[in-house]
Amino acid sequence: MSKVDGGGYMSDAYLTCSLCGKIPDLVKVELLHSEERLPPEVDSLRCIGGSGNCSSPQIRVCPECGTYYGFIHEHDSEAGMGEGYTEEIISRITSERVLTVLEAARRDIASSLKYWEQALSEGNYVDHARKMIVEEQAELEQIDAEITRQSEKT
Ligand SMILES: [Zn+2]
Repeated sequence: MSKVDGGGYMSDAYLTCSLCGKIPDLVKVELLHSEERLPPEVDSLRCIGGSGNCSSPQIRVCPECGTYYGFIHEHDSEAGMGEGYTEEIISRITSERVLTVLEAARRDIASSLKYWEQALSEGNYVDHARKMIVEEQAELEQIDAEITRQSEKT
């Protein structure tokens, strides 16, 4: 009946975590037309990087147990025909998928960085490009640190 303790499954750390215990495996809310909101614990997760849209979720990590999440904040304007919808999604990333997700995020940030470096070299959006380059280099460093941490585990 009762679960035998002492197995030491790292991937189950979130079950007993004071933050992650309040965050479901996957939850989606709509901000404009409903009162639903993501659990406040989501704000306590540390942001690592990623733009936070459907194709490139923002990677977040729990400061207590190290569980990873993908966070999406996306506005659908309905092509300007209505108020649109604003959705937020948080989804727990299983330990087997972490490395794949981190590497995908790394590729997205790296290609975005390249885009802004190109813009800067052509003299386009110079101020914005400079700011984005600094931000994205910082994100890359964080992602690389997480990838190293994950690779050392296996
Ligand atoms: Zn946690």
